[in-house]
Amino acid sequence: MTLLIYDDIFLQHDTGVGHPENAQRLENTVRHLKERGLWEQLTVVRPRAASIEEIGLVHPQAYRETIKKIADTGGGWLDADTVVSAASYDAAIHAAGAPLTAIDLIMKGKEKNAFCLVRPPGHHATPTRGMGFCLFNNAAIAARYIQSKYRLERVFIADWDVHHGNGTQDTFYSDPTVFYCSMHRYPFYPGSGRKDETGQGKGKGFTINVPLPADTLSKKYTELFTDVMEQSAAQFSPEFIIVSAGFDTYKKDPIGGLNVEIEDFRTLTEIVMKTAERHCHGRVVSCLEGGYHLSDLPSCIETHLKALLRR
Ligand SMILES: [Zn+2]
Repeated sequence: MTLLIYDDIFLQHDTGVGHPENAQRLENTVRHLKERGLWEQLTVVRPRAASIEEIGLVHPQAYRETIKKIADTGGGWLDADTVVSAASYDAAIHAAGAPLTAIDLIMKGKEKNAFCLVRPPGHHATPTRGMGFCLFNNAAIAARYIQSKYRLERVFIADWDVHHGNGTQDTFYSDPTVFYCSMHRYPFYPGSGRKDETGQGKGKGFTINVPLPADTLSKKYTELFTDVMEQSAAQFSPEFIIVSAGFDTYKKDPIGGLNVEIEDFRTLTEIVMKTAERHCHGRVVSCLEGGYHLSDLPSCIETHLKALLRR
């Protein structure tokens, strides 16, 4: 009933020595899930690549071609911390394809929910600019795909990464059909995500930002998440929920650092599932964003998966 979308191709996105967003994050997670016997309990499926048209649901052709050209010519840097290696384009179109693979299986009614164990992550990528370790916006493409292929009108994106998902916000800022809800540390990278950023034009009121100081206690954090999910979902009545699941809110994360405990990821997941059951037949696709504690990230993801599986 719970899908795990994964492919070794994600290990080929090479960010170089000493980069926090590295292949070991996924290697350690896969090994851990196998050791814990969870791998066999999940429906593990390899992702298809997102097509040129599907990437184009969010990113203009010129931007996608730029990323491909950098990869084809051996690689290069988009900014001080965002790298495109020779294999990154191929990894990135499969990372974008992962939620699409999951959505197709869920919409066929075969599976209930999914976690996409992918890299590169996506939520900082704006339509025209990769940044913050992100090349294509996996969650944003997924939301547009649900609307264009399945004709569902209202998609909800819950982003619990410690950083504000500026790329996702930008994509849907004027759009009343995709509700973007982010809880994040503030002030912090990338600088956006103030409380008064609530959308514009027809999209006014369809973005909610909950900026939190670094010393926010985990109890307060989960209470706020519960309130904001319940209130905004009641107002919006989503037909599908996408999660930008970052695990860099974890208290020991080397670059994130709110005070979230491993067990809190169960609470967050259960709130999302409860909301999805109330509004949209339990349809949830979760995509890995951040999470950089190499030895504890696997346990954070295990906790998230067990809740998706109800174990
Ligand atoms: Zn993050």
